[in-house]
Amino acid sequence: MTENLIIIGSGPAGLSAAIYAARGNLKPLVLTGQEIGGQIAMTNEVENYPGFPDGITGPELVRLMQQQAEKFGARVEMDTVTEANLKMHPFQLKTQNGNALEANALIVATGASPRRLNAPGERELTGRGVSYCATCDGFFFRNKEIAVVGGGDSALQEALFLTKFASKVSVIHRRDQLRAQKILQDRARENPKIAFVWNSVVTEIKGSGKVEALALENVQTRAKSDLPAQGIFVYIGHIPNTGLFKGQLEMDEEGYLKVDARLHTNIPGVFAAGEAHDHIFRQAVVSAGYGTMAELEAEKWLAEWEHARGRK
Ligand code: NAP
Repeated sequence: MTENLIIIGSGPAGLSAAIYAARGNLKPLVLTGQEIGGQIAMTNEVENYPGFPDGITGPELVRLMQQQAEKFGARVEMDTVTEANLKMHPFQLKTQNGNALEANALIVATGASPRRLNAPGERELTGRGVSYCATCDGFFFRNKEIAVVGGGDSALQEALFLTKFASKVSVIHRRDQLRAQKILQDRARENPKIAFVWNSVVTEIKGSGKVEALALENVQTRAKSDLPAQGIFVYIGHIPNTGLFKGQLEMDEEGYLKVDARLHTNIPGVFAAGEAHDHIFRQAVVSAGYGTMAELEAEKWLAEWEHARGRK
């Protein structure tokens, strides 16, 4: 059976597209990727999503979006696309669960994944003190000294969250100015458990079997030091999950998909929504908006395509 519309990804972009497509009676199929919800599902407290004045947890927001999409007939499947052939129409997809799928239209809402430090020790000690998800792992660092790397919103928001568990949180930043919103900066500076390590990068994560210390280098003085830490949370930006489409969908040098103002990619019938193309705003609500726009365009494109096919 050929699907009308397959939505690849289940973050706010994918699930918002699914809500609109299901209400438009397209019976969309959503392929979630490895985890439902994408990055927002790894966020503990979402305070700026409209409609939730008291905040909402990321997993709960995702659960509500999924429920809303399914209520109107979207099918949400835990599966990951492993191959995509967009040179044929209907588009052909293969998935990790061994399915071969066909779709008349596609929305690529594959989002982005955390960037790694690429420091020695990082890979070996991931899950043993190195983490990219404070919501998932913060609990294991009760009364421990830990570090957060980065100077953006994510680093500060998660550093603040981690103070609930850790005895001390060192925020290591490569400059002496933060990129994060003022409100987060103020909260972090006022928090007695947070200390800043400026102009510094992590050159090695040390420990046998678990994180014990971080080797740091001051980028201005070149001075080297060791910071004792039992955990390190890395929040230094993201890499778009678009490798699957290399050679088929146009992308910039960082891998962000190129789209026009209406979210059409270079292949008619393939649309992109969310952090797979947006490297500027990267907010859950913006991704939800992009998901909605992509769906409205996909719906229109499908109607025109059906009409043209009927005329042949
Ligand atoms: P980001 O804004 O891109 O910040 C990444 C941080 O990591 C920057 O401070 C950057 O340093 C640093 N960095 C990058 N590469 C590095 C490297 N190789 N080594 C050391 N440090 C490195 O990423 P983000 O904080 O994940 O935020 C992403 C987007 O989500 C943003 O648009 C943000 O506003 C949004 N967001 C919003 C909220 C909220 O509204 N509460 C929460 C989370 C995220 P430089 O500053 O020197 O470049």
